[in-house]
Amino acid sequence: MSFKSLGLSDALLKAISKKGYDTPSAIQQKAIPLILERKDVLASAQTGSGKTAGFALPMLQILNSEPALRKRPIRALILTPTRELAAQVQAEFQEYSEFTDLRSTVIFGGVGANPQIKALRNGVDILVATPGRLLDLENQGALSLAKVEILVLDEADRMLDMGFLRDIKKVLSLLPSKRQNLLFSATFSKEIKKLANEFLHHPVLVEATPENTTVEKIDQTVYRVDKALKTDLIIKLISEGDWQQVLVFTRTKHGANRLSEKLEKAKITSAAIHGNKSQGARTRALSGFKEGKVRVLVATDIAARGLDIPLLPHVVNYELPNISEDYVHRIGRTGRAGASGEALSLVSLDEVGYLRDIEKLIGERLQPKILSDFEPTETMADVKEAEAEKKRQKAAHHSRGRNSGSRGSSSSKGKGNRGGGRR
Ligand code: AMP
Repeated sequence: MSFKSLGLSDALLKAISKKGYDTPSAIQQKAIPLILERKDVLASAQTGSGKTAGFALPMLQILNSEPALRKRPIRALILTPTRELAAQVQAEFQEYSEFTDLRSTVIFGGVGANPQIKALRNGVDILVATPGRLLDLENQGALSLAKVEILVLDEADRMLDMGFLRDIKKVLSLLPSKRQNLLFSATFSKEIKKLANEFLHHPVLVEATPENTTVEKIDQTVYRVDKALKTDLIIKLISEGDWQQVLVFTRTKHGANRLSEKLEKAKITSAAIHGNKSQGARTRALSGFKEGKVRVLVATDIAARGLDIPLLPHVVNYELPNISEDYVHRIGRTGRAGASGEALSLVSLDEVGYLRDIEKLIGERLQPKILSDFEPTETMADVKEAEAEKKRQKAAHHSRGRNSGSRGSSSSKGKGNRGGGRR
């Protein structure tokens, strides 16, 4: 199948060939014709599936088939959970629209609003936004959603995870009732189905989950190791393997910072990327990593979602995710586009349950290995003691926060940064 046979116009085909794509991916083959038919679509697709082009290309075709209105009202709105994803989605729109007259821009929190307001004032056909900043600017009268013809919720499951449901509903109330709706989500939880029922109109369900084939291409290794020795082990693996570009996942933001600092101490250049980092710091970390100046990028799941880092040879789960699907997303970062990749997981005793859940999901047994000098010695009593200690520290932290009265004041503003506090 070719892009041409999907019914895309010459202007788009030219941009597609400039990008170097020759065959539409599974999700593109399924979604593009339906979107061109102006159907509402409920699509199950993950990062790496080519989903962005799957909605961007037909949307551009629809928008480009009518002459641009002089005032350029926003005709298409794409909501994404994170700033990085918003930026990447808009970058793709920009590339695919190169040979059309359509304009797009992106708005998200964590950076000054003025340049965004200015870009909106010039008129855009397509707006990519995170919910908080979108509502802020709408409130200020900097934009109107009254003429939106197509709405996309990208990574809708993440948006719900990050607590954006109310914001999404508010946005929906600002849109014209007659419009085309597209919902993309990696998973179909009850909540996603409920949301889909509420706003999609006779949706066509599209499923393209190439993840299993991806997983098969990836070499998955699990090391059982004590929690306290994980840092030593990862340093050993990176140094002895002479790995030059490694993406490491931690479960928490603090964990990401701590590990990044320890790697730096061991003379391994590293940067952490998570929701508490400023936009500038995240962009710097990502570009440093892409350019090879930063050897190890330590990320939380939410921060890593949608990051376009092609062909990573090594992905390490410093901690296993408690949501099994995240494991598949994480390791999907390696072994892309036919190249083989290696995914390593460091599993301490308290994470063995997560490992079982992951094995159930991927339908594969991941036999843990034990390295000499790293033989696990933890007992369940140690795990319980560590958990109790963590609880004690958390309680102490909370009561300190309450006494100082400083918590809350900083988080009451900054809608664009919502969800950053979760991981
Ligand atoms: P996405 O799932 O939208 O994040 O896309 C993942 C990556 O695949 C991006 O780097 C896209 O540029 C790339 N891509 C999208 N469609 C195709 C295609 N048909 N052929 C090759 N690469 C593609």
